[in-house]
Amino acid sequence: MITTTTAPVARPETQAFIDQDHKLLIDGHWQPAETGKKFEVVNPATGKVIAEVAEGGQQDVNKAVAAARKAFESGPWPAMTASERGKLLWRLADLMEQRIEEFAEIESLDNGKPKAVAAAADVPLAIDLFRYMAGWATKIEGTTIPISVPYLDGAEFHSYTLREPVGVVGQIIPWNFPLLMAAWKLGPALAAGCTVVLKVAEETPLSALRLAHVIQEAGFPPGVVNVITGFGETAGAALSAHPDVDKVAFTGSTEVGKLIVKAAGETNLKKISLELGGKSPNIIMPDADIPAAIAGAANAIFFNHGQCCCAGSRLFVHRSHFNQVVEGVAEQARKIKLGPGMHPDSDMGPMVSQIQQDRVCSYLDIGEKEGATAVCGGKRADSEGYFVEPTVLVDTHENMKVIKEEIFGPVVAAVPFDDIEEVIATANDSIYGLAAAVWTKDISLGHRIAKRIKAGTVWMNCYNVFDASLPFGGYKQSGWGREMGYEAIQLYTQTKAVTLQLK
Ligand code: ADP
Repeated sequence: MITTTTAPVARPETQAFIDQDHKLLIDGHWQPAETGKKFEVVNPATGKVIAEVAEGGQQDVNKAVAAARKAFESGPWPAMTASERGKLLWRLADLMEQRIEEFAEIESLDNGKPKAVAAAADVPLAIDLFRYMAGWATKIEGTTIPISVPYLDGAEFHSYTLREPVGVVGQIIPWNFPLLMAAWKLGPALAAGCTVVLKVAEETPLSALRLAHVIQEAGFPPGVVNVITGFGETAGAALSAHPDVDKVAFTGSTEVGKLIVKAAGETNLKKISLELGGKSPNIIMPDADIPAAIAGAANAIFFNHGQCCCAGSRLFVHRSHFNQVVEGVAEQARKIKLGPGMHPDSDMGPMVSQIQQDRVCSYLDIGEKEGATAVCGGKRADSEGYFVEPTVLVDTHENMKVIKEEIFGPVVAAVPFDDIEEVIATANDSIYGLAAAVWTKDISLGHRIAKRIKAGTVWMNCYNVFDASLPFGGYKQSGWGREMGYEAIQLYTQTKAVTLQLK
């Protein structure tokens, strides 16, 4: 049910930022695209244009990569101590903390998510990530390694490793958590001493542009962070094929992830990390705390309108509780108030774009044709803006598209199961392996299932729990490498072994 189509306007400073002439940040200067082209940014709650941003392309990417190269090889950045890099990241976090409200408003207007959610989750998580990574800057260490070389009898050596920044990094991010994804990418790269060209998603460029202004204010030297707004097929492709980019970190669809790998293979074999799609299983065992599991299952799929790569989109419920859980999740879905993210009463905003709304609705149509039944929702909401009703599907079978493919919307398919082996096999029957959850009071059973699920994250009796210290990433076609935690630092560093002959 749409609460209202009107919503409070943004605060004056937020609106002043949105109204700016948005340019590209290259080498510390804001500049228009070389072609002079711009593109429109739409508020998904209304379908109306709220801003125009520069449309960066190949030439702009070339300039940004050159600036990042210069900043990596010379100038203040490579001469800075790890402690100084840490301080800059901490200062950035402090400056962001003074602007939580403004970031939340930008995120809500650009992406559609409720402002209150952005203020409670996206923005604080981004701030926390920068602080966490600030701490790592001074703790990136090598080791000393005793060696004995059989063919050099009697010789003695001193060997050690250095962990060095990987170099110029291209980062390509999606639209579902625009600010947070920028933080996940920038935080570890900057802590490690890399320089960055960040290509933000064309649907949601504004919060990363605001962040770029704050990065400048924090005092990062020119060229260390360059921000390109533009399209994937042009700016994103130029970055992933660029011969002077040492690494690309990408978050987005598995389809585009494969293109990034191909571009790296065809050019300079740059290093790649990928955080891709998912079709995460959420398993409710017969002994689970059922009310908690119902609330958890609703959160698993409806948080961020289901536009999460780790969304719990396949809900496996033991047959003994199937009807109760389905009805419970459907009841929660019916209570969700759809409305513009800027309205304080809205629980769920619109899909990010018309394209996403159409995509999710086409899955609903396909599901219906294939024989699935929508217990609640099942269609687009009758309103301006790109709203889709929260939906619970039953009567699915294992070969349906709604079971196999990532929908990236507020649509969960509930499936009954009878025994543990069956549910583990079905849960693992996916090309993806990003996340999973198990609800049970039998803790050893929970750990046994966690061990056998092929996913990079397993939650037990909870869902969507994130922390800057917890590595996040995928098994199978859900990705390569882990973001957050120390593993993210490893993504942006490489090891050098140094050996000195002592005698
Ligand atoms: P979605 O389909 O959900 O928009 P994408 O994987 O297409 O997800 O987009 C994620 C990010 O990848 C965006 O920043 C987008 O611009 C970028 N992108 C899309 N296509 C390409 C491409 N061919 N090469 C590089 N980046 C791309």
